Amino acid sequence: MSALIDSYGRSHKDLRVSLTDKCSLRCVYCMPEDFSDWLKSDHLLDTNELMSVISAAVSAGIEEIRLTGGEPLLRVDIVDIVSIISALPNAPKLSLTTNGLRLAELAKPLKEAGLERINVSLDTLDRDRFIRITHRDRIDDVFAGLKSARDVGLTPIKINSVLLRGVNDDEAPALLKWAIREGFSLRFIEQMPLDAGGIWDRSTMVTAQEVLASLSGHFDLSPALNRGSSPAEEFYINGTLETVGIIGSVTQPFCGACDRLRLTSDGQLRSCLFSIEEMDLRKVLRDPTLSRQEIAREISDRFSTTVAGKLPGHGINDPSFIQPRRPMSAIGG
Ligand code: SAM
Repeated sequence: MSALIDSYGRSHKDLRVSLTDKCSLRCVYCMPEDFSDWLKSDHLLDTNELMSVISAAVSAGIEEIRLTGGEPLLRVDIVDIVSIISALPNAPKLSLTTNGLRLAELAKPLKEAGLERINVSLDTLDRDRFIRITHRDRIDDVFAGLKSARDVGLTPIKINSVLLRGVNDDEAPALLKWAIREGFSLRFIEQMPLDAGGIWDRSTMVTAQEVLASLSGHFDLSPALNRGSSPAEEFYINGTLETVGIIGSVTQPFCGACDRLRLTSDGQLRSCLFSIEEMDLRKVLRDPTLSRQEIAREISDRFSTTVAGKLPGHGINDPSFIQPRRPMSAIGG
């Protein structure tokens, strides 16, 4: 049982760890093509610092770690990080979210290092649309990465798709047909106000309801029960046990069941994607007056304080909502 219980009774077991804010794509809903506001490199946690936080988190009650970014496979020590986390006493369940570009070469070493499963982000099956969304001509690398991941048994493979009005909003049925054929589990994510370019517009975002309507014209979907703390509402497809997920972060928030915390690559702990406040762990990790034990204790205390101060909801739909200063790429999605 997690000791990280907030004042609304939510128990926190899941830590999203951003390994870098750098990315090899420039998805329009995340980062403008000419983005240059990178985190300072000497602020990024090194492998040892990262492991100090992760060990303290696991001792405090974290049971699942998802490595993300930015693009986590750009981190040169990614295989070491996976291998060290997997070897921890009470090792947490370990997964990773990636754009897939480096997966063809890394799937095997990651699997051997102990990675259990992956999410790969892919919004379209069409090369031109992929270029329009990501500003890079790399769709073949994603397909090659997916093939390698499946070949080495890095499964189940989940695909994350964001639909954008006038770009790929007609592609939900084709993406689902493809995912079923390939044996991938597909989830659609509503576009959230977390982009560095500030292009998010509530009036034009593709809603969970629209995605469901679009799929329902092609598939017989019935809601799966027992959502638990999963952000995705799952639907059984055509009377089978295969499912498709729809994450209605904006129009159907699921904050009441949220069990997630987030660590940024520069060592800031956040209780929510949309937090305005952060807890500085880097400062503790680099305090020369503290022993290793004192650092571990202080980090654990800061996890508890962060959880205790967690708000009931992300507040996107409140009139007073303020978009966080950090974009998704610097928080870790
Ligand atoms: N680079 C990795 C990737 O592409 O999966 C991991 C980081 S990325 C920020 C994680 C996920 O966040 C991706 O599935 C991406 O589509 C999603 N994402 C990024 N910005 C988003 C936004 N504004 N709204 C909804 N999802 C977003």
